[in-house]
Amino acid sequence: MAHFVRRPTRQVLVGHVLVGGDAPVVVQSMTNTDTVDITATVRQVQALAEAGSEVVRITVNTLEAAAAVPRIRERLDALGCRVPLVGDFHFNGHKLLTQVPECAEALAKLRINPGNLGRGNKRDEQFATLIEVACRYDKPVRIGVNWGSLDPTLAARMMDENGRLAQPADPEVVMRRAMVASALESAHKAEAWGLGGNKIILSCKMSRVQDLIAVYRDLSAQCDYPLHLGLTEAGMGSKGIVASTAALAVLLQEGIGDTIRISLTPEPGGDRTQEVRVGQEILQSLGLRAFTPQVTACPGCGRTTSTVFQELAQDIETYLRTQMPLWRDQYAGVESMQVAVMGCVVNGPGESKHANIGISLPGTGEVPVAPVYVDGEKTVTLKGDRIAVEFQAIVEDYVRSHYGAA
Ligand code: SF4
Repeated sequence: MAHFVRRPTRQVLVGHVLVGGDAPVVVQSMTNTDTVDITATVRQVQALAEAGSEVVRITVNTLEAAAAVPRIRERLDALGCRVPLVGDFHFNGHKLLTQVPECAEALAKLRINPGNLGRGNKRDEQFATLIEVACRYDKPVRIGVNWGSLDPTLAARMMDENGRLAQPADPEVVMRRAMVASALESAHKAEAWGLGGNKIILSCKMSRVQDLIAVYRDLSAQCDYPLHLGLTEAGMGSKGIVASTAALAVLLQEGIGDTIRISLTPEPGGDRTQEVRVGQEILQSLGLRAFTPQVTACPGCGRTTSTVFQELAQDIETYLRTQMPLWRDQYAGVESMQVAVMGCVVNGPGESKHANIGISLPGTGEVPVAPVYVDGEKTVTLKGDRIAVEFQAIVEDYVRSHYGAA
């Protein structure tokens, strides 16, 4: 694991999952199904949990959605899926939670955005109602401030104060400060209304990388609540992945962040679990956690004119990932295994020796054989059409013989 210092935070229990303190950084995700569609929501929550999401958030925006929550929980329990559910509330959360108390009971955490709770006294009244419900059912709350819905009264007040200064700060800086102030002010109010300090998680999501880093550094310096990290509206495909990774890697490396979510926009009909895999890969690349055996593969070059080694690298990666739900329960420590799939003998044997298991495929013009290394020693040379199948069998044997009962 990496040598780095986690910033000390309080610890919050979300269902059975610990967040903050010395607990590992938790990976979260959010469904995009209509919560009223219980079957679709259960299916997606289950898929996200199987992919490794340790907490799943669902939208609760109507009375029907609130009424569906306990039924979703029951169905998940019946399927043996214990993943804690978080309810995402905006505008009417105070009404939904008081009218459908079973919804509050079924949830492991409530997520609220102070910017979306009304204006002036009304805002405080509605916020207090939500906190009262959280206290009554002993639920933690994430107070999640969003750039797109920052409390306008607070922002206007801070802008005015800044305007009266002899040397006013840049408006963007004031807006960032307003985000932090909004989160902290709301957390202090929640505590004053009776919510324990160990029941609060904060987030201040921004859509630009530098804004997010600046805001979280500030927030982290000013409080010891656990922080939920995520670049909001990260976008699609590689843009969303790269931007999220750039922002989160900086903060996590500084020890900031107790739980993460990668807000990717899926391709139409795309796989929602991608956001879980990306979150896990960020944590695993930084050496903060291990989720799945890692495949080291070279990029290929003019020495690899066929696609054989790309296909083998992909097959092995898919195989390892699909085995993990089973292996996780059977073979303790298997998630730390390293597999190397290399395109030729230039770097192949060297990389292979550094991995638990490595294979070096023949490059163009090389003898058509593939030496395999296990724990640094060459054990066998594969050849012919069955290289992929035979290599997979070697990986399977290695897992069985090297990782004990979980
Ligand atoms: S290991 Fe061989 S095939 Fe892969 S990038 Fe290096 S030289 Fe090219």
